[in-house]
Amino acid sequence: MYRVRILQPRNLLMLVVVVCVLLTAYVHRLHMKTDGTAASWRERNQTKHLVGTARRQQHEQQTPQLTCVPTDAVDAKADVDTYSVFLRWMHAGRKSRGSPTLPLTATDATLQPLRVFVVPHSHNDPGWLHTVDEYFDSKTSHILDNIVAKLEQYADMTFIWTETVFLDMWWRRATPTMRARFVALVGSGRLEITGGGWVMPDEAVTHYYSVVDQYIEGHEWLWHNVGVRPRNSWQIDPFGHSSSIAYILNLVGFENAVIHRIHHGFKWHLATERNLEFRWRQYWDAEDARPLFTHATPNQHYTMKWTCGPDTAVCSNFDFRHVVGEFRESMSVPITKHNVATKARQLLDQYRQKAALYRHNVLLVPHGDDFRYDKPAEFDQQYVNLRRLFAHINAQPWDADVRFGTLQDYFDAVHEREGALLPAKLPTLTGDFFPYSDERTDYWSGFYTTRPFNKRLERLLASRLRAADVVFTLRDMTTTERDADAAELLTFARRQLGLFQHHDAITGTSEDHVADDYSRKLWLGLHAVDRVILRTVQAYALADGHLRDVVTRGNMTLIHMNEQMRTYQSLPLKQLVGVRHKAAHVLLYNALTLPRHELVRVHVNHPHVVVRDGDGVVVRSQVNPLWRPDDPTRISDAAFEVAFLARVPATSVAVFSVAKSKPDAEGTAVKASVVLLGGAASATSSVFAVDTSPQELFIQNDALVAWFDSRSGFLQGVTDKNTSENIQLGLDFHVCKSRHSGAYLLGDLHAREPLLVGESSPVIRLVKGPLAEEIHVIAGHVVSGNVINTIAVDKTQATSASALRLDISNLVDAGDLVNREVIMQLKTDTNSGDTFYADLNGLQVVKRTTYRMLPTDGARFYPATSLVAVQDRRVRVSLLLSQTHAVASPATGTLEVILERRIAENDGKGVSGGVTSVPRSLQRHTLLVERRGLQRHTADESHVLRPTMRSHRLSQRLNDPLIAMVADAQLDPLLLKRVVDLPLSLPCDVQLVSLRPLLPADSAAASEYALLVHRPMYECRDDDADDTGSCAAPQPATSFADVLPGVRVSRVARSSLSFLKTDPSVPPSRMMIVNSMEIAAFRLEVDHKRARRQAVDTN
Ligand SMILES: [Zn+2]
Repeated sequence: MYRVRILQPRNLLMLVVVVCVLLTAYVHRLHMKTDGTAASWRERNQTKHLVGTARRQQHEQQTPQLTCVPTDAVDAKADVDTYSVFLRWMHAGRKSRGSPTLPLTATDATLQPLRVFVVPHSHNDPGWLHTVDEYFDSKTSHILDNIVAKLEQYADMTFIWTETVFLDMWWRRATPTMRARFVALVGSGRLEITGGGWVMPDEAVTHYYSVVDQYIEGHEWLWHNVGVRPRNSWQIDPFGHSSSIAYILNLVGFENAVIHRIHHGFKWHLATERNLEFRWRQYWDAEDARPLFTHATPNQHYTMKWTCGPDTAVCSNFDFRHVVGEFRESMSVPITKHNVATKARQLLDQYRQKAALYRHNVLLVPHGDDFRYDKPAEFDQQYVNLRRLFAHINAQPWDADVRFGTLQDYFDAVHEREGALLPAKLPTLTGDFFPYSDERTDYWSGFYTTRPFNKRLERLLASRLRAADVVFTLRDMTTTERDADAAELLTFARRQLGLFQHHDAITGTSEDHVADDYSRKLWLGLHAVDRVILRTVQAYALADGHLRDVVTRGNMTLIHMNEQMRTYQSLPLKQLVGVRHKAAHVLLYNALTLPRHELVRVHVNHPHVVVRDGDGVVVRSQVNPLWRPDDPTRISDAAFEVAFLARVPATSVAVFSVAKSKPDAEGTAVKASVVLLGGAASATSSVFAVDTSPQELFIQNDALVAWFDSRSGFLQGVTDKNTSENIQLGLDFHVCKSRHSGAYLLGDLHAREPLLVGESSPVIRLVKGPLAEEIHVIAGHVVSGNVINTIAVDKTQATSASALRLDISNLVDAGDLVNREVIMQLKTDTNSGDTFYADLNGLQVVKRTTYRMLPTDGARFYPATSLVAVQDRRVRVSLLLSQTHAVASPATGTLEVILERRIAENDGKGVSGGVTSVPRSLQRHTLLVERRGLQRHTADESHVLRPTMRSHRLSQRLNDPLIAMVADAQLDPLLLKRVVDLPLSLPCDVQLVSLRPLLPADSAAASEYALLVHRPMYECRDDDADDTGSCAAPQPATSFADVLPGVRVSRVARSSLSFLKTDPSVPPSRMMIVNSMEIAAFRLEVDHKRARRQAVDTN
């Protein structure tokens, strides 16, 4: 319909006017900005983009605000779907070894002259066998020095570079002249920055928030220091490739992408059908608005032995590195006038065979390896010998042109040959590339769980960074002066988080000491963001007055985080809130744009307390026992847990007081009843009556009764009180021996034993009160590992006829287990067959199939970052996750989640020492059971599962919990009342991804900010209301001024995701349009002069 409208003469006229105005503004900008070094291509890029912008703005103004997605939505169709390719590969006998070859004369393209671009590169891992700093000192600093010197020496040599973290380290040491030489090389086009994120991120276990943030950080750095905006993505080492990341790369603005590690079966099939280059499409993108031009390499590995063509024995002769005393696999000899003819023929033959796998006879030949080109001599050896070969080939009547090139050179040549119609000529592809297998039965699915402590720490830092960004930015936008120290702390933390997205960091596939180095860096990052939150909240509290001056001068902190990590390998610990003659004040920061109404738990030193909200109104509370860490059957007499029902509006900080009270006074926290079973000692407590008599194990709220196995204490099922129906939800824990496994691989799981074996009985504790009921099971294994499984029901939430919820946490200790996997199994009576669902990068949930004919258990595991589910016509059972795990569905209705792994073996993929440094980890989940109506069934055909809004919100709460702080007793409670709502508001189905400053921390004049929002896909349901309201009704349009009331936003511009490309600005009165599944980025400019004046007036 909108096509008809857009062609009306009036609209056409408007379009012409808009384009003219934009082009005029653009030409003006060209004159204004001539300092950029890589200007010509950049500007070309912008012109193209501006025209697109005008069209999109037309489109946006006519697009209604979308809310939910109808359940009968169908998937976008594609020429190739990875699911069907995998099926075909399995049924074809699974033959796909080595590198594929095709007959040379099979396509018309081979009739065109062969064009070859040899792309020298050096793959630099920011941490793997050595730490990032060790690598920089021993290798990378020299490699970058050499690139500058040798590209200046050899005028036709090229190079590509990817990791911005290393550029930043090098930049700090480089002289101004050296920096200028680097910038000049980039400007010349011979040194291309590919990817250019802070790192080359993993694609399986990362969350999209952190991936996007490290692209913003890397690209902002590149723009400010080098004046360059990367155009091509180079992801050659991540272990499998994700469609969510492809989508993000498109939103970032990459024009082309190279991927490498995909299952050898995929490589084989894509190659034999000449589909190695494709438009990667999303299942939900029916309009094909966001495809990514993707080039997949055909070869098994990216080293020189594999990249010149299909024959590794031949390619080995063309790696010319020769360092005296160094082992070399290469068989190469220097190229001389005597051997050049023979060698050139051999090399060209390989090039031709490889080119036959693509459609256009233009060939990309990466020429590098890990940490290569660290010696100046290697540049000379590779350059001089290859140059002789190129010269010889190009001089013969062989219809071939071979030269050094960059990715840009290659893609330009492809576009030139294929013409403007290229995108339409490419086959389309849907699906993703997990799990990855490089050869035989080696499945890289162990790393989905490897080092869960670090994986959890990363999510904690991401959540706190996001929260710190929001509170810092909102204050920064509205006050007279920037807190430069806080801004620096934010940048520091962001870069630790960015570093950890590296494909050997978050994956856990590094040596133990390197993994410890990452933990330490994440922990330091956490400290930094906590300080930002505390400083900023304190600044709000002390907006003016004498105390503020005292505090600022003394750099004092009068507010403290309630939960702290003492060391980089210890679990966060709640601090004891001292309730003495004065009430203690607890501040709760809600960084979500959703109002929250939930239970908060703090530890106090007194069993009889009353909790009040900021207006002095008593709130409901319950006091629970705390158990001694050295003995799970003994109750502490000095510390208690108080759980209270907190209402915290969206993006705000609320204050609660906890005061001493009398046991029977009105409003005093109600004591929980306690049952203790198992264990030798009978618990005594001066406060709680402890029942040790055997009894039925259950917990309940208004919606459900959850019942537990009387012997193991583990969950068996729930009864829905609304329908009296019993639903099987059997939870169990196993320890498996792991064979052919390592940091990367998951092989066979055998010798499966329940965590509870023999006669040992677990300690079981039941704690029941008016606000919550919970059960704790302390289950140990004969070998030594143990799990403390806690399941809780919240009695304060409104019940729903369609959804039941349990909160699960597992404290997992691998103890002395060796070569073992600790697995949680959930058995339901869902008739799910071989199908289950797991999310990709927290962005979309895709269908997975359990293929029983695959050779190892590891082949049936997939990554899940935030959700894994099984469903049938009746019910959907989702397990929401707060970190990434390897997940599978070994039998109908069953889900398996690998919680922990301790592997001493080397799986032959790089890490020598296995995974033995394994701290205890605390892993939280939400188990959600949702009824499904008959109308939902068409959706089951889709490859994408659309979670309900309820599921999305629970996931947000699990991942971004309320942040509890405690105010120092010196701080006047009256001052705390100043802590008010932060000015940020979004439609209920739009999530705030990030709100952060854009310019570097040291820029005091910064006035540009990034606003990133996401509208997730969700199933249309009219029964999705919870305590914080329904989101089923159509949402009214929102202007930017509505989103940030009270902030003097002067201009807004839509941008690509990492701010590489920005559309012309619009006034903040313009509507903010975010379509379903879009992650939209906006560059905001704030008029600080006006903000300052306003702040002064207010004061
Ligand atoms: Zn790597």
